[in-house]
Amino acid sequence: MARIDKYGIHDLRKEFPTNDDCLEFIFRTTHSERCSCGGHYKRLPERRQYQCSRCRYQIAPTADTIFEKSATPLTLWFHAIFVFSSAKNGISAKQMERELNVTYKTAWRILRLIRESLHNEKHRLLGDVEMDETYFGGKGDAGRNNKDLGRVMDDKAVILGAVERDGEIRAEVVKDAKARTIGQFLHNNVERIKTRLLTDESNRYDLVARMYHRQSVNHSLHEYARGDVHTNTIEGFWSHVKRSISGTHKAVSKRYLQSYLDGFVWHYNNRHSDRDRFSALLFALLR
Ligand SMILES: [Zn+2]
Repeated sequence: MARIDKYGIHDLRKEFPTNDDCLEFIFRTTHSERCSCGGHYKRLPERRQYQCSRCRYQIAPTADTIFEKSATPLTLWFHAIFVFSSAKNGISAKQMERELNVTYKTAWRILRLIRESLHNEKHRLLGDVEMDETYFGGKGDAGRNNKDLGRVMDDKAVILGAVERDGEIRAEVVKDAKARTIGQFLHNNVERIKTRLLTDESNRYDLVARMYHRQSVNHSLHEYARGDVHTNTIEGFWSHVKRSISGTHKAVSKRYLQSYLDGFVWHYNNRHSDRDRFSALLFALLR
């Protein structure tokens, strides 16, 4: 999909040249300039606070946001948000450290706070929806006759995903790929009526997707598409995530996998415009 508008680092610097500009934006996004007493809020000099001209009530716009207790200047935060929102292959703490010229620890903390603040959409998908599972990480091989298959698979994280064609994606790290888990994921993320569910031939779907209008392709018979019945979109997303993680992050522990995954899902769902993606992230952080 073509990018509708470009938003680069120069645009960012022009829009938010100083810490005061960033604070003003945060204030205007989260509060009304007018106090309920009829007065107007004005910035207190040298402080991250606004005060009502009549009743003297004070507002700290960064309270309860990720900016609150941070010694990092707001312009640097905005720069970090811009970098994160532009990096569709993800960004490591090492890269963020270089980009912002801060310590590794600060870069790591900024990235963690941004990832944790992402609010992905939760409404259910409908229409043509592809669903698939993938396995991530883990070491070792299954040995002769697959005698260690159980152990190797236990090490791997299971991810379930569903994508609406030309629409949004949902992806979740789950405890296993059993039919019941798949059923729960489907129930939470995909509308039953008005949906054509596209999957591979796995019989786990037979059990849980009975209520759905489902069509499948048989990968084990090397059938990857039959007309418009295929799972190429979701498989493309899996390979993008895997390539990006091995290229950018080298390794991601199971513990943080969901938050990295949320980052990729968020980028996918906000893929149409650079400027919108930057504001969407900024607004998400201010909620
Ligand atoms: Zn007032």
